[in-house]
Amino acid sequence: MTILHTLMVEDSEDDALLILEVLRSGGYDVRARRVETEDELRRALCDGPWDIVLSDYMLPSFDAESALSVLNEVGLGIPVIVISGTVGEDVAVETLKLGAEDYLLKQNLTRLVPAVARALDVAESRRQQNKLEHMKTLILENSLDLICTLDTQGCFLEVSAAIQTVLGYEPVELTGVHIEKLVHPDAQVSFLHEFQTVLQGERMRDFECRFLHECGRTVYLTWSAVLSQDHDVIVSVGRDVTERKQAEQRIRYLATHDGLTDLPNRNLIQDRIQQAITHARRTGRLLALLFLDLDRFKVINDGYGHPFGDAVLKAAAEQLVALVRDGDTVARQGGDEFLILLADLRKASDAHIVAQKIVENLERPLVVQGREVHMSGSIGVAVFPQDGETADALIGNADVAMYRAKNLGRNTYQFFTREMSEETQRRVNLETRLHDAVAMDQLRLVYQPMVSLTSGRITGCEALLRWHHPELGMVSPAHFIPIAEDSGLIVPIGDWVLRTACAQARTWWDAGLPPVTVAVNISARQFLQQDVVTWVMNTLRKTGLPPELLELELTETLIAQDVEKVIATFSRLGDVGVKLSIDDFGTGYSSLGYLKRFPADTLKIDQSFVRDMLTDPEDATIVLAVISLAHNLEFKVIAEGVETEQHCHFLRQNHCDEIQGYYFSKPVPAAEFEAMLRSGKRLP
Ligand code: C2E
Ligand code: MG
Ligand code: MG
Repeated sequence: MTILHTLMVEDSEDDALLILEVLRSGGYDVRARRVETEDELRRALCDGPWDIVLSDYMLPSFDAESALSVLNEVGLGIPVIVISGTVGEDVAVETLKLGAEDYLLKQNLTRLVPAVARALDVAESRRQQNKLEHMKTLILENSLDLICTLDTQGCFLEVSAAIQTVLGYEPVELTGVHIEKLVHPDAQVSFLHEFQTVLQGERMRDFECRFLHECGRTVYLTWSAVLSQDHDVIVSVGRDVTERKQAEQRIRYLATHDGLTDLPNRNLIQDRIQQAITHARRTGRLLALLFLDLDRFKVINDGYGHPFGDAVLKAAAEQLVALVRDGDTVARQGGDEFLILLADLRKASDAHIVAQKIVENLERPLVVQGREVHMSGSIGVAVFPQDGETADALIGNADVAMYRAKNLGRNTYQFFTREMSEETQRRVNLETRLHDAVAMDQLRLVYQPMVSLTSGRITGCEALLRWHHPELGMVSPAHFIPIAEDSGLIVPIGDWVLRTACAQARTWWDAGLPPVTVAVNISARQFLQQDVVTWVMNTLRKTGLPPELLELELTETLIAQDVEKVIATFSRLGDVGVKLSIDDFGTGYSSLGYLKRFPADTLKIDQSFVRDMLTDPEDATIVLAVISLAHNLEFKVIAEGVETEQHCHFLRQNHCDEIQGYYFSKPVPAAEFEAMLRSGKRLP
C-alpha cells in the first residue's frame, strides 16, 4: 500500500472523513492532517513533507485560492487538488490557473483516486525536471570546460560561465553571436567545415582549434559537438588546452634549439641543410656551410669558470647572428662550434666575404660581464655541390677545413680541398699517439743556451720539448703542442717537462758547474687549469732546485687573456725567487699599462723580428723599441733566433743583454749542454 501524506484544508470533519475513506478504499495508506486557517496551513507545511494537498474551495475563514497562493509562495511543489461543494466552471478555471492540479466536486468523488494518482505523477516529473534544470545550471556555472548550445546557424543559445575565464566574455553578451566570431581567423575555414559535418549528424570529437581571447591572444581548444535529437540545437564542449599546447611547442623548440644560445641545434640545421640542398639542386644555385670553432675557448672556459664561458658563447652567438643575412642559419653544433649555412649563393666567392667578415668581427675584443675577452675564430668552408652532396658530408668537410685553418695559426678561414682529408687523418692519429708519448718514454728535453752579450758567457738555457716517435720520427713541438693544448694532454706533458728540467738543473748544480737558470715554457691551458703556484713549489721541493735557478716563460698572448691572474700568480712565485720571462714579445697585445705592473724579469724578442731586422727597417725599429722599453721597465732583454754574427753584432751595438739562437748553439741534449758548461764555451 502506498503511503500518502495528505494535508487537508477543510473545515468539515465529516467531509474530510469521507474523502479519506475514498482514498483508503482506492488503495492508499493515508496519513492525514486537517487545517482550517492560513496559520495552521503554514505551520503544517513546516512539519512536512506532504505528498498532496486537498483543499476545500470555501472555508469560513480561508479559501482554496488563498491556500494556493500560500503554497506557491512556499514553493515546495506539492500538488494541490481542489475539492469543492460549489459547482461552477469559472471557479474551477480560476483555481487551475492558480496552479491546482485538478478540481473535483464533493458530490462526485469517483474521480478522486485517479486524480490523486495523476497529480502525484505530474509532481514527480516536475521534480525530476527541476532537478535536471538545477543540475544544468550547476554545470553551466561551475564547469571548467566551455559548454554551450548553438542553433543550426552557429549562433550561441547558452554559454557556460567558463567562457569568462577561457575567452574573456560574459555568457550573456554572446547570446545570438555567431561562434565564428570567436574562432581564430586562420582556423575559421576548418572550423566551419567541421561544423557542417556536425549538422549532417556526425559527431565532432576533440577537434583542435585556435580561438581568440577577447584580448586578442590565441587560445587552443579541443572541441566536441553533437546535434540534438530534434536536429535544432548543437551541444558542444570545448576544453582549454593552451598550456598543454604551449608545453608541446616548447618541447619541440627545445628538441631543435640550443638551450644556451637559443640558436637552432645540430638536428635542426641538418634539416635546413638538406632543404637547402634540395632547393639548390632545383635552382642550380650553390650553398656554403661554414664550420666555426672559437680559438682557445677551452682556455677561457677552464680558466674563468663555466658560467663565464657560457656568457662568452652567448655573446659570440649574438654577434654571429647579426653578421649574416636573414635567410641564413646560424646553429650551435656543440661546445664552441657553430655552423653557418649560407643558402642560395650565386658564386662560391660570396662565402669568402662572409667568412672574412666573421673572422674580422670575432677578432674585436668582446666585453662580457665587464671583462674584456680577446677571442678569435677559425672557419672551414664547404660548398655544395663540389665538397659534398649531403648534410653530413658538408659538415664533415667544413670541419676538416676548419682544422686546417687552426693549424695555419687560427683566426683565419679555409675552403675545403681534397688533400685536407688526409691531413686531418694524420692529425687524429697524432693525438692518439701523443696520449702514449709520456707513458712510453718518447719525450725528451733539449737545452738551448742563452748567452750574455757583455760577458759572452752562458747565463742559462731554455728547455725545449722533443718527441721522438718510433715511426713518425721527430715531431716538432710547434706541431704537437697545439694538439696537446686542445686535448688537455698539455697538463701531464707540462708536468713531465717541469720535473725533468728542474731535476736536470739540480744535477748540474750538484756537479758544481757554474750556476745556470733553466727556462721552462708554460702554455696558456696549463696556466689557467692548474694551481700553478702549488704545482711549481711542489716540483721545486721534490727536485731540490733553488727557486732562483728556475725561469718560467709565458707568451704575451697568454698574459693578455687574464692579466690580473697572471700578475697575482707570478708575484707569489717571484717572492720566492722564481723568475718570469715574457716569450715571443712583440707578437701579442701587451699594453704598457700592465707591463709596468708585471713581476717579469725578462722580455724575449720574438725571432720573427730578429730574423729580418737587418733587412727590414720596420723589424729593426721594433727590436730597438723593445730593447729600450725593456730597459725603461728594468727588464733584461733577450733576442731569440739569433743565427748570424751580423745579428749578434747589431744586437750588441744596440745594448741587447743576451742572445739565444743557432749562432751560438742549437738546442742540444743535456750531456752536450753540460759539456759546453764544462768547457766554458763563450761568444767570440
Ligand atoms: P719558443 O719558446 O719561442 O722557443 C724557441 C724556438 O725557437 C724553439 O723552437 C727553438 O728551437 C727555436 N730556435 C732557437 N734558435 C733558433 C734560431 O736561431 N733560428 C730558428 N729559426 N729557430 C730557433 P722549438 O723547440 O721548435 O719550439 C717551438 C715552440 O714550441 C717554442 O717556442 C715553445 O713555444 C713551444 N714549446 C717547446 N717546448 C715546450 C714545452 O716544454 N712546453 C710548452 N708549453 N711549449 C713548448
Ligand atoms: Mg720559449
Ligand atoms: Mg719564443
